[in-house]
Amino acid sequence: MRCPYCQHHDSKVLDTSHDSHGGIRRRRECLKCGQRFSSYERPILATPLIVKQDGTREEFDREKVARGVRISCAKRPVSAADIERMIGQVESQLQKLGKAEVSSRVVGDLVMAGLKDMDEVAYIRYAIVYLGLTDLESIRKEINHLLED
Ligand SMILES: [Zn+2]
Repeated sequence: MRCPYCQHHDSKVLDTSHDSHGGIRRRRECLKCGQRFSSYERPILATPLIVKQDGTREEFDREKVARGVRISCAKRPVSAADIERMIGQVESQLQKLGKAEVSSRVVGDLVMAGLKDMDEVAYIRYAIVYLGLTDLESIRKEINHLLED
């Protein structure tokens, strides 16, 4: 770590402490000018790449996910802020998996779970598209699952 005062490339660590977010703070002293400073290291949470059904990969795209959710929530008592919050939760759940890649199914399942908590009609709309429910019987099954919960 370079000294922020004189740019010397070496310092000694006087003290190391850990914080509750997994970060590490080090108290340092420059070996040349003797000035003291602190450095802070923290883990970067990366969102895994999404592996699509055709095997190609893409970045997790909040806006793209939000578009699908917004369509499902049309004319429902769900605010834009609710949708933002739900997608934020989906993203942080993906980060917590700690994986480099996840299947797009994982994303869809997390969105479904989020919608289920938020609005049941929006959930059913999303499920029809996402699960590819093409007949009344399978839609009814999904609704029955929902009613049983
Ligand atoms: Zn220095």
